[in-house]
Amino acid sequence: MEERKKYILNRETLKYEIREVSQHRFVKALATFLAAALIFAVYVWLYLYVFDLDLPKTAILKRQNARWVSRLEMMSSRLDNDEAELKFLSSRDAKVYRQVFGMDSVSLERRFPLTGALPPEILALRPWEPLRRTAERLDRLTGAAAFQDSSYNEISVMQRKAGELATHIPAIPPLNTDKSTYKMSSPFGYRSDPINGSAKQHTGMDFACRPGNTIRVTGDGVVEKAEYETGYGESVLVYHGFGYRTRYAHMSRIDVEPGQVLKRGDKIGATGASGRVTGPHLHYEVLYGKEFVNPADYMDLDMSPKEYMSLVGGNKKK
Ligand SMILES: [Zn+2]
Repeated sequence: MEERKKYILNRETLKYEIREVSQHRFVKALATFLAAALIFAVYVWLYLYVFDLDLPKTAILKRQNARWVSRLEMMSSRLDNDEAELKFLSSRDAKVYRQVFGMDSVSLERRFPLTGALPPEILALRPWEPLRRTAERLDRLTGAAAFQDSSYNEISVMQRKAGELATHIPAIPPLNTDKSTYKMSSPFGYRSDPINGSAKQHTGMDFACRPGNTIRVTGDGVVEKAEYETGYGESVLVYHGFGYRTRYAHMSRIDVEPGQVLKRGDKIGATGASGRVTGPHLHYEVLYGKEFVNPADYMDLDMSPKEYMSLVGGNKKK
């Protein structure tokens, strides 16, 4: 192989000396370098593309990212549960509770509104990004939970009212149902007047009975009047709320005074023959607003005396 010459200055002799360099060595060094570079390139290629491995930094970032994604997924599946639970409560609320109390039901869409209170960092994300989707769901659920809460509050107010309604509306006979102690002498409605024979609406229900039978108030309420009135004689008018009043007439004795608060079944006096009567009886009226309504619709005369006493039992002592 041909040799290349190299001239080098000898600093002691100040002469150029010829030094022979082997081209072979140069080529060998170059080849070694190229081989090393090639091996490195192949290594990188294998690493990145064939074995699909990452550079250390990328690997760390990818691992972190995977952790975040799995946390988001976990959160998302918890949200699934919460959402299902809330939807169940919500539909029971709309289809059962609100309907029981005659309240308008509210659509599920209105129950799951987006409050729009998302932070700008979230709004900057694209709509399909998991973080944004999760944040939006969280926002909706928060809104829905607040809505549900207020709906339950409304219902509990209605329920309290309904409870009051149930105890205030006239619902029991004003006398003991023992059939040996009274006789239904005149029902509610049109009849000929027992005194002058003219056709007239009978505004109440008559229970013919001996004077002295205990009269009980038929629902919770407040005594509005307790006095002698023309026609009615000694009579008591009770206001029950919700538009209802009851009147007890022709009494022989009044045991209550105006303003007195009564519980259903409380004694208010005794039967008699005061006022405009042909014989002793209790004239019992139920009014709704200004209308007289049929008292028979507000009691069950077929209940046994024992049942009747158990209904008013809590108020026996009064
Ligand atoms: Zn009457």
